[in-house]
Amino acid sequence: MRLLLALSFILMGCAQEDSFVCKNSLRNSYGENMLWYEDHIGVYINDNMSQYQQAVDNAVEKWNQYSKVKLVITNNSNTHIHLYASSDWSNREPSEQAFTGHTYYGNMFVRTAIVINTYNYTWYHLNGNGVEIESVLLHEFGHALGLHHFGQGIMKPTLPFNTTRIEFTEDDIKAIECQNLFNGRTRR
Ligand SMILES: [Zn+2]
Repeated sequence: MRLLLALSFILMGCAQEDSFVCKNSLRNSYGENMLWYEDHIGVYINDNMSQYQQAVDNAVEKWNQYSKVKLVITNNSNTHIHLYASSDWSNREPSEQAFTGHTYYGNMFVRTAIVINTYNYTWYHLNGNGVEIESVLLHEFGHALGLHHFGQGIMKPTLPFNTTRIEFTEDDIKAIECQNLFNGRTRR
């Protein structure tokens, strides 16, 4: 069975002109490449995900090797990225293992939620049965940093059960290197 990792936008913003875009990056409804203006992006881990702290640490460390803007785990809940598990999946597709939702203004990310589906799926870290959490966290952090679905690596949209996918492909690295041209810009 192949499962779906979903992505959704929450808010619409205003238009700005930006002709160059990365082919594997998220765009707003005006076709503009989305980006974080800040250099450091806070990640708050809800208590209901604390058992997967090591998986989160690993995923953050892996992205920070390649990403210009750095993910920083923080105890401050009023920060950029909020990661939590949800056992209420009644308003979403049961085929979704997780989703990343962005709040944004124009082409600027403001807040991001990464939500793990604990209603339909059993989770494990590296050894076990169900859905492998580090693989999914890497994927969702990719969305959080501004990447779309593509290729056969981290950003592939489906992850089978009992599968670990934690190695970056060349395409994954090229995609974040392109997104690095946008992320961490000085605010205008
Ligand atoms: Zn996805």
